[in-house]
Amino acid sequence: MIEIIDGEAVASEIRDGLGDAIATLEDAGVTPGLATVLMSDDPASETYVSMKQQDCEEVGIDGIHVEIDPGAPAAELYETVEDLNANDEVHGILVQMPVVDQVDTRRVLRTVAPEKDVDGFHPENVGRLVAGDARFKPCTPHGVQKLLAHYDVETEGAEAVVVGRSDIVGKPMANLLVQKSAVGNATTTVCHSRTEDLAGHLGNADIVVAAAGVPEMIDGTMLKEGATVIDVGINRVDADTEKGYEIVGDVEQASAREVAGRITPVPGGVGPMTRAMLLWNTVKAASEQAGIEVTLP
Ligand code: NAD
Repeated sequence: MIEIIDGEAVASEIRDGLGDAIATLEDAGVTPGLATVLMSDDPASETYVSMKQQDCEEVGIDGIHVEIDPGAPAAELYETVEDLNANDEVHGILVQMPVVDQVDTRRVLRTVAPEKDVDGFHPENVGRLVAGDARFKPCTPHGVQKLLAHYDVETEGAEAVVVGRSDIVGKPMANLLVQKSAVGNATTTVCHSRTEDLAGHLGNADIVVAAAGVPEMIDGTMLKEGATVIDVGINRVDADTEKGYEIVGDVEQASAREVAGRITPVPGGVGPMTRAMLLWNTVKAASEQAGIEVTLP
């Protein structure tokens, strides 16, 4: 019997636990603050940022939103980030990516103060994660780790295949799975667009994390019996629906469910976890900056 991994339910538990941590901080006079910065007129980015602000409000994190005219010089973004670095009420800073062309993305990532970098993309935080001393784990792979832990998926000694090598999902995911630590110790393979025999790798995998952004590219025939399948993909495909499209993952769910042991649905799997882990990182940031110990869920 296939077990469906319920990301909404696990995310909700995490938000409840964060509520307790936030109450502890509040008792000590500290309200966690997350600043979101948007320099883009991409409607999807606008939606993501407003969802993040709404999530903050729901758990009691102060949301501060800064919008920069997409036509403004890049310096305006760098200066905004520096001001937020210096603002004691802001514990976490998130610059919504992608930013407009005139901005140097790497410079933005380097400008965010590492201790406020709740996305975990600053080179110092990337280095710390690789070294096994993570400060902020990037939200999506961190959320996947929480799902694996919640469903008691044995990672130690397991064959794990991560499909995708992006800086925000694939690479940090593989780095976490390979660490000598809890929800790690997996024999980890990273597949990507130049991988020659994807099916061959997937056929050996006890755990698959699919993050390629290619609609339904993995089907049941490629999977090992009983595998745990984590589908990170969020792909919009044309469909005969009211909106004219639907969202599918990187995994073809119907055939995968015939073979896999556990699977995340899309939507309702990894997506809610990514959102919850941003709040988690923000509470951690506030706790560390204020020097107040809290229990994180
Ligand atoms: P990306 O485009 O930056 O990276 C995709 C990676 O997949 C690349 O490294 C590429 O080498 C690999 N790839 C592409 N085609 C492939 C193929 N045919 N075979 C093997 N590998 C292939 O994407 P990303 O930002 O890492 O996101 C990946 C997917 O996850 C997207 O659908 C994105 O929308 C989704 N996503 C979801 C969440 C969430 O919270 N659920 C968060 C971030 C991203």
